[in-house]
Amino acid sequence: MFLFLFSMILNSKANELEFIYQWDTKPKIVICPDSKVKKEDVEAALEFWKTQGFNFKTKGIYYSDHCDLEYHTIQISDYASNEEPRIRGELGATNVTWISWDSGETKTLETVDVNIPVDSANRHDVIFHEIGHAFGLAHNDNHFIMTPKL
Ligand SMILES: [Zn+2]
Repeated sequence: MFLFLFSMILNSKANELEFIYQWDTKPKIVICPDSKVKKEDVEAALEFWKTQGFNFKTKGIYYSDHCDLEYHTIQISDYASNEEPRIRGELGATNVTWISWDSGETKTLETVDVNIPVDSANRHDVIFHEIGHAFGLAHNDNHFIMTPKL
């Protein structure tokens, strides 16, 4: 009995995901023109995060006819395999701008720019990973999607 409880505590620690950023309003998700990412891909990512205990709220997922990063928006675009990802060592990339009203830990997201590779074998895992970042999650070596070595 003691051993069983002990291993449960270890597991819950290992899988604990941490937020380094947060939204203080529900973001709009905008898919850039010509992106191969579909609304269904983003919905699948949000569904995945629900199974992990995170119910990320949005103002909706939209296809856009232009690609200008706006406030309170997660913008999604592609990059091709002949381009260097913007963050070295990562298949996808998520760049954020944020503000902090005090010197505390909480950083409030203002814009999120997500880049998804068009032709990687585990493209869906990359989308899940980058959407996790887009809602403020940090890397975690023990989480199969938020591991930095996806
Ligand atoms: Zn990452």
